[in-house]
Amino acid sequence: MNTAIQINEVSKSFGKQEILKSVTMEIKKGEIYGLLGANGAGKTTLMKAMLDLVKSDSGTISIMGKMVGTNDEDIFRKIGNIIETPVFYQNLSVEDNLKLHCDYVDPSYKQEIDDILRLVGLEGVNKRKVKTLSLGMKQRLAIGRAFLCRPDILILDEPINGLDPKGIVDVRELILRLNKEYGVTILISSHIISELAKVSDTIGILDNGYFIEEISMATTEVTDLEEYFLDILTKSSLRRSA
Ligand code: ATP
Repeated sequence: MNTAIQINEVSKSFGKQEILKSVTMEIKKGEIYGLLGANGAGKTTLMKAMLDLVKSDSGTISIMGKMVGTNDEDIFRKIGNIIETPVFYQNLSVEDNLKLHCDYVDPSYKQEIDDILRLVGLEGVNKRKVKTLSLGMKQRLAIGRAFLCRPDILILDEPINGLDPKGIVDVRELILRLNKEYGVTILISSHIISELAKVSDTIGILDNGYFIEEISMATTEVTDLEEYFLDILTKSSLRRSA
């Protein structure tokens, strides 16, 4: 089976507002999948549905062949995630935050903490309180925490939001490294086309809750991706207002 995440006709409304509209998409094992969409397109809601943090109204999601929503906690051991802003105990040390994470996922990974900190470029900060770290360091720590218990899949919601140029490059390189060296399947959302294009094998576009287009970066003949995606989004919004 080559599929990591399969989403079939997933819809979700909050009150009268329809946020996801029969979304169907597939993320293959071993790929970096970029989910592109404007603010409010429904990216976070879709990711939360994958993690069972919001319940879909209809449709199905399977992760590594297991159905989300069946109370099978094993699914969530296979997925590391950063959804919206990562939360840490700011007054606890880096190491204590990571130990707490292991306590509820798998305590045997506590011995990996030094290795993970080295992997994300944070060696030596074990004893520092999280509140003393820069935003870029916290973001790398969040990715390290998400990967600490060696999930098969990482779901990263806008991981470069708010970072300075150096922070963006660091996170990009880390994502590529996790994928190439460790074989992790990665779903990453962003509204920045150029950033997604630099890391993704496949890019899917969510627009106003509709999954409207998918492009394989290996086979595409499109040369100006920015123009191509903007064109698709403009046509989609014209169709909506027609
Ligand atoms: P952004 O890039 O701004 O994070 P997004 O593509 O991730 O956007 P979502 O966060 O999924 O979009 O939000 C989609 C829509 O759903 C927005 O209009 C948002 O206000 C609404 N929404 C999200 N969560 C809830 C909720 N719990 N209750 C009501 N409305 C919600």
